[in-house]
Amino acid sequence: MERIANFINGEYVSPNSGKYIDVFEPATGSAYASVPNSNLEDVNAAVKAAEKAWKNWSNTTPEDRSIIVHRIAGELESRLDEFAEYESRDTGKPLSQAVSVDIPRAIANFRFFSDSILNYKDETFDSTEYGHNTVSRQPLGVVGCISPWNLPLYLFSWKIAPALVTGNCVVGKPSELTPYTAFKLGEICNKAGLPGGVLNIIQGLGMKAGSAITSHPKIKAISFTGGTKTGEIISKSAAPSFKKLSLELGGKNPNVIFADCDFETMLATTIRSSFSNQGEICLCGSRILIEQTIYDTFVQEFVNRTKELKIGDPKEGDTNLGALISNEHLEKVLGYVDLARNEGGKILYGGEKVQLNGRCSEGWFMSPTIIAGLAPGCRTNQEEIFGPVVSLIPFDTEYEAVEIANASKYGLSATIWTSDITKANRIAEQIDAGVIWINCWMIRDLRTPFGGMKNSGVGREGGKEALDFFTEQKNICRIQ
Ligand code: NAD
Repeated sequence: MERIANFINGEYVSPNSGKYIDVFEPATGSAYASVPNSNLEDVNAAVKAAEKAWKNWSNTTPEDRSIIVHRIAGELESRLDEFAEYESRDTGKPLSQAVSVDIPRAIANFRFFSDSILNYKDETFDSTEYGHNTVSRQPLGVVGCISPWNLPLYLFSWKIAPALVTGNCVVGKPSELTPYTAFKLGEICNKAGLPGGVLNIIQGLGMKAGSAITSHPKIKAISFTGGTKTGEIISKSAAPSFKKLSLELGGKNPNVIFADCDFETMLATTIRSSFSNQGEICLCGSRILIEQTIYDTFVQEFVNRTKELKIGDPKEGDTNLGALISNEHLEKVLGYVDLARNEGGKILYGGEKVQLNGRCSEGWFMSPTIIAGLAPGCRTNQEEIFGPVVSLIPFDTEYEAVEIANASKYGLSATIWTSDITKANRIAEQIDAGVIWINCWMIRDLRTPFGGMKNSGVGREGGKEALDFFTEQKNICRIQ
């Protein structure tokens, strides 16, 4: 079995303890590699390398950094298909999705931030009364970037690209469940000419390697994407050293569907927003709110369309749903289907583990699942399931739709379907979510802020927000 390594100071190194954890391919249920079970000593080595590298990296110009990060994008692009295979193997997602979404978006992240940094300028304020003020931005130093398993390189690069272009050195940690693309990124960084120590990648468990990063006194900021519970733990661990924190957490997103929408576009997109990536996207709509007058038609068409989805080997081109990330996660999602039944819900479709043949006979597959008949406040409609499970909830009025949409501790994203744009804008203003889509889903202009309200997070990523996060402001006031 292949042994994955940490990437410290531009070199691949074994973990200090010599201990490893198995990495599984969800589609086959078999271990295919092992990943370092890193500890504080490994994190210390990474921080030391990062601090040393920062002396030079923080003195490079934005143009120099932009060139190198652009080269990272180029190198990754030249290996797109290979990286997509790694990503699909680690996550269980269809290869077609890794090829068309995950890796292209990781490339776009590096490109976007290498361009953005060139336009990220100091601000000046001049007046006779208060003199000449320059607000400059300086890198923080060594920062920590921790990412989840559902969109591994996509989300890892979303953090490290802005951190690097702003002149920080990074200690990053991908999920222990999906370490491979981050592991291979080291090769790409070396080839692109990123100096050793500027990006260090520590592999391992959240509670051990992750918490060693979040509590490390020399790490100035933590950019984290993952579960809300983990976000709580990280907040506590980072607080004593006054670290800057960006937390992108869980969601329970409402899709609000009005009778006057373009039904076909809504239906096709709602299938995607429900079941893409096996429903393992924080932005998937898991509570589908449907205006009563079209409820029956929606149910019939939505179930029919869901039946057409193919659950299969992620390598096959016509597979719509691959495997769930782990057996534990599959059991958790199936547990929510049981809970829905116990809460009085009706399973309109799916709700079962799926047994495939051949290579994937031991894989962690489940059918896309549609539940109806549950009250908005029940646990199934309140807790994040993070799998291919949606719950249908009818509503009568616009007011009721907004009430149900907001009756959640989460506030990440929402989708509104109607041909009445005035109504859509009115509702968008009222829904508590950081990202709202009207008559579309998952469209992302990278210049716009991304993140959630309430228990879905603190702070925003993307565009200028990310560059601001990874820099410290300094106001320099001069008279004459
Ligand atoms: P997770 O919180 O279990 O793990 C995320 C990362 O944090 C992993 O790298 C993990 O090893 C690490 N980690 C775990 N415990 C830690 C600790 N105590 N200290 C430091 N690091 C620790 O989340 P997950 O299961 O990998 O991902 C699924 C979750 O991520 C879902 O809740 C989903 O909604 C959320 N998510 C949110 C967004 C967003 O942008 N808001 C995007 C993707 C996923």
